[in-house]
Amino acid sequence: MRRKVALVMVHTSPLEQAGTGDAGGMNIYVIESAKRMAAMGVDVDIYTRKVDNAQPEIIDFAEHIRIVHLNLPTGTKKEEIPSLIPALSLDFKTKVQGKGYSVIHSHYWISGKIAMAAAKEFNIPLVHTMHTMARVKNLALAEGESPEPMIRVQGESQIVEAANALIANTDAEAASLVSLYDACPDNVRVVAPGVDLYSFTAEGRDSRQKLNLDPKKLIISFVGRIQPHKGPEVLIRAINEMMTHNPELRANLQVLITGGVSGAKSNEDIRLRELVNWLKLDEVIKFLEPISRDKLPDLYRASDLVCVPSYSESFGLVALEAQACGTPVVATAVGGLRTAVSDGISGVLVDGHDPRAWASVLVRLVSEPDRRKHLAIGAIEHAQRFGWRATAENLLAIYEDLLRKKDTSRALA
Ligand code: UDP
Repeated sequence: MRRKVALVMVHTSPLEQAGTGDAGGMNIYVIESAKRMAAMGVDVDIYTRKVDNAQPEIIDFAEHIRIVHLNLPTGTKKEEIPSLIPALSLDFKTKVQGKGYSVIHSHYWISGKIAMAAAKEFNIPLVHTMHTMARVKNLALAEGESPEPMIRVQGESQIVEAANALIANTDAEAASLVSLYDACPDNVRVVAPGVDLYSFTAEGRDSRQKLNLDPKKLIISFVGRIQPHKGPEVLIRAINEMMTHNPELRANLQVLITGGVSGAKSNEDIRLRELVNWLKLDEVIKFLEPISRDKLPDLYRASDLVCVPSYSESFGLVALEAQACGTPVVATAVGGLRTAVSDGISGVLVDGHDPRAWASVLVRLVSEPDRRKHLAIGAIEHAQRFGWRATAENLLAIYEDLLRKKDTSRALA
């Protein structure tokens, strides 16, 4: 008999394009781990929201993976969902009752809150992954960024209490769960996310022609959601520093910012375009629409460097994807990026967000092609340590462990 698990990811659907709006690394995580779990003999139902009203309540997404829609009106903004948690929680409870799930695994605090009641009532182990945490974000806000609200901090604290296991992406995230949320260390398990090592490869690094990009220029990319926390402005200002001190680079450099606007600041993309214009960098810095996963490897391969200047990051899938494609990454030395990038081997970690510090790192890399080549080799090697198969295996081992514990405590009762 195949085991059945329910994954819960309510505020964004796995059917949405990642890299814009609320869809990002978590969407990729859920779908990629679900695919590997299904291949390992588990039936996976993903409880989520409808992207449009025409969608049926249940979609057969792939063999042994179904998408089950909760009653959340399309168009409801993420910020509005917390007030709907009681209704969604009831809906979830009704939908999972009697379905024979062994484990419920929720992703992000909103889903954890929605899943808690059903897990408790039906005595199903609850596994939770935060993806990001309010307290971590609030300790590292970008300029002008609003802090995460108290309701989220409280919700996360309740989930920490209720979950049978908390999955952290890295040791750093595990430490934050314990130190900032008082999680019991025994309940926190570290499972690294992954990268699709079959699609994200270094083969075909001559992809510039396909993308209509200049073969001679040095290309630096930012890939991800356009929001202050991801730090695209740091890259723009660093490029400006570079142009001021090394004007000869202007003709040889192309910077690509790929992704869609996300979060409360819905005009962030416009603000950044205006900034680029004001800095007279329009020729150098181009903004590209979010692109689908099948095209992303070519963009990474076409890039000489990928920058991830985030203020905090529980992991940073973009960093891993770029490295798997043979592109060194320059990232902020924060959170999961310290694990995702091997400093000096697969890329460079930069302390803080001072554009001058970023510029000095980038100028050196731009002027040292041999070093970039070494880092590119290191990047491919480093990424090989992170496959989704290992992520799914580790998650399933944790599920089994919880089920064994449940059996033991039932036997002792
Ligand atoms: N992404 C994408 N198309 C884009 C930009 C981003 O598919 O145009 C994907 C990217 O490949 C990655 C995810 O969005 O898998 C972003 O994940 P990451 O962990 O880097 O950041 P998050 O969005 O979780 O903050």
